[in-house]
Amino acid sequence: MQKQTVAFSRDSSNLFFHILTKCNLSCTHCYINTEQHGTNTLDIETIKTWLNLFSDKAATTNLIYLGGEPTLHPDLSLAVKSAKKIGFKSITIDTNGYLFHDILNKISSNDIDFLSFSLDGATRKTNDAIRGEGSFDKVMDGLQKAGNRHFLCSMIYTVSDKNIHELKLMPKLVSGLGIKRFFIQVIGMRGASSGAKKYLQVSRDSWLEIIPQVAASIADQGIAVTYPKVFLNREEIFECAGNVAQNYFVFPNGRVYQCPICEDFSLHSYIIKENRLIPMPKINESDLFSLTIAEGCVMNKIIQPQNLSYDKNGMPEYRIACCMLKEEIFK
Ligand code: SF4
Ligand code: SF4
Repeated sequence: MQKQTVAFSRDSSNLFFHILTKCNLSCTHCYINTEQHGTNTLDIETIKTWLNLFSDKAATTNLIYLGGEPTLHPDLSLAVKSAKKIGFKSITIDTNGYLFHDILNKISSNDIDFLSFSLDGATRKTNDAIRGEGSFDKVMDGLQKAGNRHFLCSMIYTVSDKNIHELKLMPKLVSGLGIKRFFIQVIGMRGASSGAKKYLQVSRDSWLEIIPQVAASIADQGIAVTYPKVFLNREEIFECAGNVAQNYFVFPNGRVYQCPICEDFSLHSYIIKENRLIPMPKINESDLFSLTIAEGCVMNKIIQPQNLSYDKNGMPEYRIACCMLKEEIFK
């Protein structure tokens, strides 16, 4: 078994492209905030033009199509083919499993690298309580259909207080699903979660007790597992991806963020206006990335400080890593 922390690199970038914010589900933790991200659906010509804004580094950029639910876009297949033509390093579609507009018959497994299904519980009961009635079965059905057509599939499990108890059941569940990659995410306190009555992120003790163990158990089946590091040891170096990597979270109202934790605020680094990528004036998220604090991630301290803890001298007991710093474990 191999385990590695994936270091940030300026030589590799990620383009998280929200082509619409519309969705058929209303997940209790949905991070889409239409007040901040708008309600429009980009037309295919605009999608192509915006992809071209990033074409100079396409060969080193992983493109992830997101929504809302991206398969609700009637021209997603054309968007995929355009990205393929431009030459992005990899293309992924994240889906809630409903696979609208007959997408599996409009693209082939050669057009994309991964189809990534979101599932937030090992049982129908837990998943559907979070993601909506019938969504568990849709994911199972979608995985089967995608597998039959030879698409490489992955799964995303967003861990919260509501479903961490079922993560231990996931190794058994995924063993028969044919997925190649499994992503564990921490629930972000943004979008719908920011208004939750109860704090949804899990404690450090629960995280460290459960996540690495489950990840190892899934990786043992030959499935590569990625999960956020979240907590740094004293000897580990803190880095903010906003300073040392290239991540772009593009929304259909033209906002472009570099940090997902900032997405509930008008703090985006860039705006796409008249089809040009324009840096935003101060103050925006990039002015915050260089702040050095004892707690590690600045935005975490501002937005979700409940996951910090302090000793009797008022010093943080640990630092929070950049939310984009990942551990990878594979056989
Ligand atoms: S599937 Fe995604 S976009 Fe749709 S409600 Fe759930 S989290 Fe939000
Ligand atoms: S999560 Fe924190 S460390 Fe990472 S980019 Fe955002 S502000 Fe920087």
